[in-house]
Amino acid sequence: MGKEFSNIPREVPRVETRFRKIVTALPHPDSLPTLEKLRQFEPQSMRGQPPLVWARAEDIFVYDNYGNQWLDWSSGVLVTNAGHGAREVRQAIIDQVDQCLLHNYVFPSAERAELAEALVKVAPGELNKVFLLTTGSEATECAIKLSRAHGLKIGGQKKIGIVGYERGFHGRTMGAQQAGGMAGQKSWIVNLDPAIVHAPFPDGFWEKNTGFETFLAAIAQAGLKPEEIAGVLMETYQGVGPDFAPISYVKDLAAWCKQHNVILIFDEVQAGFGRTGKFWAFEHYGVVPDLICCGKGISSSLPLSAVIGRAAIMDQFPPGPMTSTHTGNPVCCVAALASLKKIIRDDLAGNAARLEPLLLDGLEQIHQKHPREVGHFSARGLVGGMQMVQAGKPDHDLAHAIIEKCFHKGLLFFSPVGAWGQTVKIAPPLTITREAMLEGLSVLSEAVDECLA
Ligand code: PMP
Repeated sequence: MGKEFSNIPREVPRVETRFRKIVTALPHPDSLPTLEKLRQFEPQSMRGQPPLVWARAEDIFVYDNYGNQWLDWSSGVLVTNAGHGAREVRQAIIDQVDQCLLHNYVFPSAERAELAEALVKVAPGELNKVFLLTTGSEATECAIKLSRAHGLKIGGQKKIGIVGYERGFHGRTMGAQQAGGMAGQKSWIVNLDPAIVHAPFPDGFWEKNTGFETFLAAIAQAGLKPEEIAGVLMETYQGVGPDFAPISYVKDLAAWCKQHNVILIFDEVQAGFGRTGKFWAFEHYGVVPDLICCGKGISSSLPLSAVIGRAAIMDQFPPGPMTSTHTGNPVCCVAALASLKKIIRDDLAGNAARLEPLLLDGLEQIHQKHPREVGHFSARGLVGGMQMVQAGKPDHDLAHAIIEKCFHKGLLFFSPVGAWGQTVKIAPPLTITREAMLEGLSVLSEAVDECLA
């Protein structure tokens, strides 16, 4: 977020290891026409990532056309949980293309049926219906719609309140952005829906009070009574950190939702499919939501998202009013099925869980060296982050500089995230090995040292 990386080719030290290879100036001069074309024909908002023209991405590596190889700690944007271009995923896509069924709208297909069944099987027992969409934003929009429709039905015209979280993110479309808690990103909406309100996210860093009373205080302050609330939409972990809420907080929240007939929605768009060391991140809390929003890692590749939920909530609309043109595109469905099989067969959630201590330890060591600048760090499974600060305030420039330095060293991150763009986020494919993690951590540590020298 915030600013561009330099597009001027720079000589950088050569790197050649098992996992990384940097042998040219960066960006490579021959990639400039492509970078320029993108600048010319796309909006400025698309310019935020390091200037690397991806030519190929396989497993934990991203390659350009000039002999350079990056160890990838982005997974695109937490998409390629099963690895980039996993062989099984590619083969499933090829077979589907060769079968010559590329699109079927909402007409029935075996591919959609198979994926819906597979997703129900990996969801908690009570969540037994699946609605397939294309993007994460659509999934969260749909969950808001389902919650409000349910609220209206059981509580009348007033039960339409949606509670999101400060600093939360659910996508950039109108409802999703309003439910999110990044004030700067929703200023374009102006006439914000007064029934979409926000509670402090109990991360223990920006929000010191992590008790559930902060939620009750926030809705009271917003002038909403429990009987006026239709749904609570919470990222299972808040992406900026990644930050989990205390288990007791989420248990209290789930009990409160049950008591007041409020739909509890976990946004697992980023957290699901093994990322945190469990298949679903909400398993860390020991609660079951009413709706799960999925996206990103669902296919490890092609655009697909889903809402999974209880039949009573999912079946509120008659045939027609809850569909989408690309609902369960068959090519995306087979990609998702192949990815899901690989995540389960290779126990990629287990791999993430086993590597978590290594990641935490590496971040701890960087923090110990630079306690003032690494304001906060966290990791769960194979998602981690360092929030950079200066005099206690978010430091976007430092996070940006670290990511650029790593890019030059052959370790790839997406641009900084967080409400203030202060976070260096770590999210390798879940297929990564211990050796590759160790190498990445030492590169990151070196980059932080150099940026602060
Ligand atoms: N929810 C969460 C938690 C996300 O991280 C994102 C994407 N970063 C979205 C929703 C939106 O997904 P999409 O970009 O596919 O619309």
